[in-house]
Amino acid sequence: MLKLPLHWQIVIGLILGVFYGILSASMGWSQFTVDWIVPIGDIFLNLLKLIAVPLVLGSLIMGIASLSDVKKLSRIGGKTICIYIVTTAIAVTLGLVLVNALEPGKNVPQDLQQKLQETYQADAQVGMDRAASAKERGPLQVFVDMVPDNIFSAVGNNRNMLQVVFFAILFGIALVLIPQEKGKPIVDLFDGLTFAIIKIVNLVMIIAPIGVFALITKTIDQVAKDDLSAVGELLGALGFYCVVVILGLVIHGLVVYPILLKIFTSMPLTRFYRGIAPAQLLAFSSSSSGATLPVTMEMCEKNLGVSEEVSSFVLPLGATINMDGTALYQAVAAVFIAQALGLELDLTAQLQIILTAVLASIGTAAVPGAGIIMLVIILETVGVPTAGIALILGVDRILDMCRTALNVTGDAAVATSVASMEGQLNLELEEPAVDV
Ligand code: ASP
Repeated sequence: MLKLPLHWQIVIGLILGVFYGILSASMGWSQFTVDWIVPIGDIFLNLLKLIAVPLVLGSLIMGIASLSDVKKLSRIGGKTICIYIVTTAIAVTLGLVLVNALEPGKNVPQDLQQKLQETYQADAQVGMDRAASAKERGPLQVFVDMVPDNIFSAVGNNRNMLQVVFFAILFGIALVLIPQEKGKPIVDLFDGLTFAIIKIVNLVMIIAPIGVFALITKTIDQVAKDDLSAVGELLGALGFYCVVVILGLVIHGLVVYPILLKIFTSMPLTRFYRGIAPAQLLAFSSSSSGATLPVTMEMCEKNLGVSEEVSSFVLPLGATINMDGTALYQAVAAVFIAQALGLELDLTAQLQIILTAVLASIGTAAVPGAGIIMLVIILETVGVPTAGIALILGVDRILDMCRTALNVTGDAAVATSVASMEGQLNLELEEPAVDV
């Protein structure tokens, strides 16, 4: 039997959820929906939150531990991580500029915003209280908060994700520094842990269509109770949100990377894009930069002339920690949700998004749908109700395809730049073969 690809299943879940939500609201089935449908969405959401901490711990520690010896760690590693972080920060900033300028969330009509706000009022109050208390703290407090004094309390609360990330980086570096035979059992353990968690992500994604159905039903039912026309406007607003994310991804891919390549290499841009196209297409159709990695490496070596030494180190690390597309999307999504719920995010909150999105994208696993899990953490950090992801979950798979293509492009652009800086970029290669 031909199995429908997951993204189509999710689109169908979304469409059915919209229909059922409207039906439920207009037929007065609200109580049934709240009793029997809404909990399914909550379970799906809880599952996503459940795996966030082990996912970050496992994939981040593995990413750092793959810097297997100290000389590489300090030289190539230093350059690579610097460029990764700078390009990711640019991506987040670009996303923030676009979402603040175009305000796709404000497209959500006033009365709809009002209803959404009422629905999430309790959560919003908590967020506002946190924002108020944050204002009273000193400038370095954010760094103090990043450093946990107890790892078990850090991993015991999803709100402490920055502390978990900090610990994972420290632990990963320590694993690189200790003798290999001592570190190996731990590396193997985290390798296994990461594999198992990624399997859980796959399993959770099986019920994603139903989860999306339930979450969208909940939203539609709540907002459409007495005004069905608001639903059309809500979906219109989602379309605009998608356009903003995709616009950001395109600008980043066609402006930021060419600038990076111009600064560090003399590679013709057409050659870069033609050479990397097969990996981009595979990333787009698989939504997984991890699954695309072998192809990315091959294209970089064969088509772009990146040396094996650089590609075998920079690209696996990049697939784990460098996700410009994901970071840009997370920034747009976080502000979109806040706008749709009528919440103001001040400058401090926006700066917090830059920091958290850079770190969250580092901790995002290179598998389908991982980005939205980390979005939950960003929302929690800036005090936006996490249930707001129900608004965007329905279109997430489509955006996942687009952001994954950018993630892979970013890894290749950085690998090419680092290879050029290291004198390990062969520009004399024949014109690339572009077969997929
Ligand atoms: N699917 C993305 C990747 O593999 C991660 C994400 O969900 O943003 O690169």
